Amino acid sequence: MTTSRYRGRFAPSPTGALHFGSLVTAVGSWLVARHAGGEWLVRVEDIDPPREVPGSAASILSTLDAFGLTPDQPPVYQSRRNDLSAAAFDRLRDAGHLFPCWCSRAELAAHGGLHRDGRCIAAADPSRPPAWRLRSPDRVVTWHDDLQGPQAENLREVAGDFVIRRVEGLWSYQLACVVDDGDQGITHVVRGADLLYSTARQIYLQQLLGLPTPGYLHLPLVMDAQGRKLSKSTAALPVDPADPLPALRKALDWLGVKPGAAATPARLLSDALDGFAPATLRRSSLTPGTTL
Ligand code: GLU
Repeated sequence: MTTSRYRGRFAPSPTGALHFGSLVTAVGSWLVARHAGGEWLVRVEDIDPPREVPGSAASILSTLDAFGLTPDQPPVYQSRRNDLSAAAFDRLRDAGHLFPCWCSRAELAAHGGLHRDGRCIAAADPSRPPAWRLRSPDRVVTWHDDLQGPQAENLREVAGDFVIRRVEGLWSYQLACVVDDGDQGITHVVRGADLLYSTARQIYLQQLLGLPTPGYLHLPLVMDAQGRKLSKSTAALPVDPADPLPALRKALDWLGVKPGAAATPARLLSDALDGFAPATLRRSSLTPGTTL
C-alpha cells in the first residue's frame, strides 16, 4: 500500500456505447477507490481514430452519470494529450530503447509473430514511415495483483519487442496509458483481466520513464453463456441509461457485492460500499455460475 492518497480511474475506449462488461469495470474501480477513501477519475482513451465510433465518448460519459458514477474531476481525453506521449517517445528513442520497424504482417508471421531480437528484420524503406518498437529485455517482471495474486512475466517471451508508435503515427495503448497514468498521478489501476498481460509491459515502461508503478487489480471478465469475453466485438448489449437500476444491481451482484433495494443508482452504490472490501470481489471468471 502506498502512502499517497488513493487515486483510481476508469479508462474507456470510445468504440461503442457502454456495455455490461465495461459497467462492471467502472463499478468495480469506483467501489475500490471509494472504499479506500480515494478519488475516482475518468479518462477517455480516444487515441485510435479508426476504431472510434462517433458520439460514443459522449454517450459513455452520460451513461456513467446516469448510473451515479460521477468522476471527481472533469474527464480527460487522451487525444488532447499528444504532447505528453510525444515527449515520452522522444525520451525512449533518444535513450536507444526503440527501433524503427518496416515489417509487414507476413514477414512478422514468418518470424514467429513476434520480434524478439531488438531490430527490424525487413529492409529499411525510407519511402514510408516505420512503426517504432521497444527492445524487450530478457527479464521477468514481477508484480502483485491485488485480486489475482502474484504475477511474473518474461517480457521478451510474452510480449516481444512491442509497438510504441504505429505506422500511422498513432501512439500505442501501452505508451499512452503509462504516460497518462503517470501524469494524472494514478496510484491504483482497477481494470478488466483482459489487460493483465499488458501490466508487465506497462511496469517496464514506467521504469524506463522514471514513473512510479501504481497498484493493480484486475477484475475477472464477464463471459457470455458460451464462455466468450463480453465485449463490443461480440455485440454485447449496451446498458440502458434510462433504466440504470437493473443493470447496476446485476453488475454489483456479478462483482460479488450484494445489491440492496435502494431506488436510485447513487443510493445503490453507496449502500454497496457498506461492508465492501476488495477481497470480497469475485476472483475468477472461470468458476461456475459466472456467465450472464
Ligand atoms: N481503454 C482500455 C479499454 O477500454 C482500458 C485501459 C485501462 O484501463 O488500462 O479496454
